[in-house]
Amino acid sequence: MKLLHDKIMQEGKVLSSSVLKVDSFLNHQIDPMLMKEIGHEFANRFSDQVITKIVTIESSGIAPSVMLGLEIGAPVVFARKRKSLTLSDNLFSSKVHSFTKNETNDISVSRNFLNEDDNVLIIDDFLANGEAVKGLLDIAAQAGANVVGVGIVIEKGFQDGGKLLRQQGIRVESLAIVESLEDGKVTFAAEANA
Ligand code: 5GP
Repeated sequence: MKLLHDKIMQEGKVLSSSVLKVDSFLNHQIDPMLMKEIGHEFANRFSDQVITKIVTIESSGIAPSVMLGLEIGAPVVFARKRKSLTLSDNLFSSKVHSFTKNETNDISVSRNFLNEDDNVLIIDDFLANGEAVKGLLDIAAQAGANVVGVGIVIEKGFQDGGKLLRQQGIRVESLAIVESLEDGKVTFAAEANA
């Protein structure tokens, strides 16, 4: 997605050979016009699917998810990160190890908002090792929901998440695939340059 590539080139900061900072438009300040285009692009890529629910994880997955939800008229459920869970909370829950924070969080979704009739599209801001997506897939499985695919704003192709998910037969659509962050420079995967 050219608009996203341009934005990453202009405003992305390479923090290390594995971490890209995009807090001027996605992770802290949000660019609503770009998010609108991202929502539109996800809607186009998954236009062959009936989606009853968009499932993401707080907080940075919410903005692109809501823009997609507006396009396709589907509600957005975001998994919450919690320190501890009690059985009385009526939750589906899973554990997610955070690549950037190096800590493990419990994530949870109320049983009221996901069930076996749902066709779910999972959305997230970044795909690195796939831990966040795996947690959301686990929650969807607990609900008995069908997952039609995964939409990612920025995939880091040099980490294993995308490969692992695709090997499992899961459809992953990434709007930008970063091939390398070596030498402080962002290089995109060739197939994602169009
Ligand atoms: P994964 O669970 O796939 O290992 O990592 C994805 C999650 O970690 C995303 O939800 C995102 O919040 C965070 N993340 C991973 N890599 C990066 C990165 O390079 N930059 C930023 N800003 N977040 C990242």
